Amino acid sequence: MKTIIEPFRIKSVEPLYFNTKEERIAILENAHYNAFLIHSKDVIIDLLTDSGTSAMSSNQWAGIMKGDESYAGSPSFFTFEKAIQEITGLPLVIPTHQGRASEKILFSILGGKGNYFVSNTLFDTTRANIEFSGAEGIDLLCEAGKHPAIAAPFKGNMDVEALEKFIIEKGAENIPLCIITVTNNSGGGQPVSMQNIKDVRKICTHYNIPLFIDACRFAENSYFIKIREAGYENVSVKEIAKELFSYSDGCTMSAKKDAFANIGGFLAMRDEKLAQKCRNLLVITEGFPTYGGLAGRDLEAIAIGLNEVLDENYLHYRIRSIAYLTEKLVEAGVPVMQPAGGHAVYIDAKAFLPHIPVNQYPGQALVGALYLEGGIRGVEIGSLMFGKYDENKLLIPATLELVRLAIPRRVYTQSHIDYVAEVIIEVFQNKESIKGLTITDEAEFLRHFTAKLKPICNS
Ligand SMILES: *Cc1c(COP(=O)(O)O)cnc(C)c1O
Repeated sequence: MKTIIEPFRIKSVEPLYFNTKEERIAILENAHYNAFLIHSKDVIIDLLTDSGTSAMSSNQWAGIMKGDESYAGSPSFFTFEKAIQEITGLPLVIPTHQGRASEKILFSILGGKGNYFVSNTLFDTTRANIEFSGAEGIDLLCEAGKHPAIAAPFKGNMDVEALEKFIIEKGAENIPLCIITVTNNSGGGQPVSMQNIKDVRKICTHYNIPLFIDACRFAENSYFIKIREAGYENVSVKEIAKELFSYSDGCTMSAKKDAFANIGGFLAMRDEKLAQKCRNLLVITEGFPTYGGLAGRDLEAIAIGLNEVLDENYLHYRIRSIAYLTEKLVEAGVPVMQPAGGHAVYIDAKAFLPHIPVNQYPGQALVGALYLEGGIRGVEIGSLMFGKYDENKLLIPATLELVRLAIPRRVYTQSHIDYVAEVIIEVFQNKESIKGLTITDEAEFLRHFTAKLKPICNS
C-alpha cells in the first residue's frame, strides 16, 4: 500500500514562533504551571485542543464571503439547517455559538435538583452544565474503557448492564436524558459501536428515557464503525452517521470539532415541544432562532464543513495520523492509551510518572514538562480536571490521569508530528526529574481552566 498523505495542499500559512528552554521556564512559572494560562504565541506546537483550531478549506472561506447577515430568516440559516437535517435526520435544528451553549439550554430545561443524567462519559462542560442546574451526571463507561493499556475496538461503549441497574435503582422518572458521547473525548477519544448505541436505545425505549448524542466527533466515530465493526465495511460513513443518529432523539454539537469551524454549535431534536422551550431560552441568551449566537457566515462555514468531514479520504488520513504518533510512542515504551483514538493521543500519566502520587497531579506535571522540553502544549485530563474533594478536603481522584495531545484538523504536517514524538520520548527518558504539583488557587467550576499551581519541592 502507498503512504497515506495529507489529502490537501496548503494555500495560506501561519508562522511558528520558536523560543528557548530558558524562556519557557519563565513563561511556565508566570502561567502558574497551567497550560491554559500560557499565551499561544509562546507555544511552538499547540495540541491543547482540537476545538475551533481546524484549518478551514478554501470552500469554507468562500462560504464565509457568501454568508448572509440578515437578523431573521437568513438563507445561510436554511443552508445550515438543511445540511444538519440531511446528515442527522433530526428535523428541528437550533444554532448556538458553541457546544456548551447547547448544553446550557438543554440542561436548564431538563436539569434541576434530584435529576440524574446518565452517559458513557460526560465531557467536562456537559458535566458542569448538568451540575450547575443542580442535577447529577453519572458516567457508566464499559470496563475496557477504564484501562488505558487494554486494546479493544470500542472502548467508548456504555456499560449497558450498569445503565439498567442504575435506572432501576434511581427510578426512570428521575432520569430526564441519557447522553452518548461520540467519540468519548474524556475517555481517550475512543469510539462507541453501533451495537452499543442500539442496545442503549433499547433500554431507553423500555424505560421511556430520551437518548441524545453528544455528536462533536460523529464523523470520526462513524469512520471507526466502518473499519472496526462487522457489517459496516461497505457502508459509507455518511450512511453510518445517519444510522447512528436514527437511534437518537436529538443531539448537542460543537461545530468547533467535526465541522472544521472556528466557532459554532447546534442542538437538533425530534420533539417539537422541547425545541420550542429551547428556542425560548435561545432568544434570551444566544439570539434569534435563525442565527443563534452565530454570524450568517459561520452558518455557511459549518454547513460546508459538516459535508467535508464525511469525506473518507480525509477520515482515513485523520485516523491514521493519530495512530502514527501513537505507534511511535508505543515503540519507545511510552505508556499511551490504546488503541489510538480519533482526535488525540492520550498519554497515561500515572504510568509515565509512577513516582508522582495522584494528589500531586502527575498529568499536569507532565503537561509542564512537555512544554519546557519542546514548547508543546497538551492538556491534563485527570484529577485536576475531574477531581473532587471529600468532606475533609482530601482529593477524590479521577479514574484516569491522562495527558491529551489533541491534533487540530488539517493543521500540522507529518514532520511536526515527528518533532512531537521526539520531544515526548526525550521527556520520557528523563522522567525522574519531573516534580509533582500543588494547587494554590482554584475556581468552583471547571477549575482546570484557571487554577494556579506550583511544584512541590522535596525537602
Ligand atoms: C468540545 C466538546 C463539548 C463542548 O463544546 P464547546 O464548543 O467547546 O462548548 C461538548 N462535548 C464534547 C464531547 C466536546 O468535545
